[in-house]
Amino acid sequence: MKKMFRNANAFVDGIFMSSDILIEDGRITAVLPAGSGPASGDTEVIDLFGKYVFPGLIDVHVHFREPGFSHKETIATGSLSAARGGYTDVCTMPNLSPVPDSPEHLEEELTLIRQQAVIDVHPYGSLTVGEKVTEVADIEGVKDNVCAFSDDGVGVENDSLMEEAMNRCKAVGKLAVAHCEVKSLMGGKHLNEGLASKALGIEGISCESEWKMIARDISVSKKTGCGYHVCHVSTADSVRVIREAKRAGVDITCETAPHYLLLDEEVLLKGGCASANEALGQSGAPGQSKNVSDSINDLGADSIKIEVIGILAREAEQEKSIGGLVRDEKFLGRFKMNPPLRSRADREALLKGLLDGTIDMIATDHAPHSKEEKERGILGGPMGVSGIECAFPVLYTGLVKTGVITLEKLITLMSTAPAARFNIESGIREGATAKLCVYDLDEQYTVCGEKFASMGHFTPFEGIKVYGKCLMTVCGDKMIKHERNREK
Ligand SMILES: [Zn+2]
Repeated sequence: MKKMFRNANAFVDGIFMSSDILIEDGRITAVLPAGSGPASGDTEVIDLFGKYVFPGLIDVHVHFREPGFSHKETIATGSLSAARGGYTDVCTMPNLSPVPDSPEHLEEELTLIRQQAVIDVHPYGSLTVGEKVTEVADIEGVKDNVCAFSDDGVGVENDSLMEEAMNRCKAVGKLAVAHCEVKSLMGGKHLNEGLASKALGIEGISCESEWKMIARDISVSKKTGCGYHVCHVSTADSVRVIREAKRAGVDITCETAPHYLLLDEEVLLKGGCASANEALGQSGAPGQSKNVSDSINDLGADSIKIEVIGILAREAEQEKSIGGLVRDEKFLGRFKMNPPLRSRADREALLKGLLDGTIDMIATDHAPHSKEEKERGILGGPMGVSGIECAFPVLYTGLVKTGVITLEKLITLMSTAPAARFNIESGIREGATAKLCVYDLDEQYTVCGEKFASMGHFTPFEGIKVYGKCLMTVCGDKMIKHERNREK
């Protein structure tokens, strides 16, 4: 069946053009000026009345949890959640069971993808066997069926092992993609080393644990010539070392995630300390915990405001909504991820990095956990939040509506740039696979994790009013229409 999107405000070759887009058998057969496409005949016409059509969004960092952890997410629920966010392509991280470190182990994941995925899912292979950092994985054996190689979730601390892994990635023409974390410099396991950890009297996660490993990897990438991509950059120092490496000609790219751009640790100080402290008392860490209200007073918390960029803060009335939930420890798990929300200065450095091109793309690090797990809160629960379904709306609302970046730049960060680096097809043009999403950018609604298609319902953007509703996602011959009122 032939289909035509009439009157689409489509992103074509880097600009928005009023277009008619013809699709047949999962391919774009023509992109014409609006109104000039065929009127009827054997073509189903879908009039978009000027709604936006973007190339399908691409997320190079998601956790769909299968095989191994189906109580957190499945390929079916994860891919539907991604489709609802406007994504047509995602790259799934290999911290699975079994870890895709050999053709046999990878086949388990590929089988599930073939059975369940509603969009294109590209698995990562692991860098090391079982992500145990003792032996390099069968990189040559799985290379044809993976997008790149990573040990996401753990840092490959062994220098010679990383060098061997990068040499072998280079030989098969794939990127080495790194979760950068030096365990000995990690400190605590819950929060950034900063205002909130100090207020709680607990050890925080240092910035050094991230940028030190990036710096090490840069030197290995230089030595081996292997293309290198840094996962979820969260600190100012990380941005600095990556900027310097780019200037020096290293084959390096990086991503950050929406929560690092739009939120920082102050959201926790304002919303989290009282209940987190209570949990700390319950967790049996006597002596570490101190009176939190005193600590906040020490820090002058009256002057500390949750600052979510511009319109997000104003429209969500963040202070009020999160303030109302201060005593609900279950709520706070939604701010726990690895790396953690950093300082305001770090967030500002990430925004600068986004603007000057140091940060190449935005990935979500969609990392769902079960409700029961996340309800253990900021100190007892696992790291990781759901993000793929609301990533575009929160970024559009927080960065584009406020004038920080243009819509064109956001599409580049979320589709064009990841496509180019990870060799994934993207773009609205004649002859291309039909991969696109339709967005109504005027529609406003409130983010509600309970209504996500994902099995992970914990998002740091809970309760925030956003603009931008994805109405439809097209991935080849699959056309997925999303119910208009699902978040209302
Ligand atoms: Zn990671």
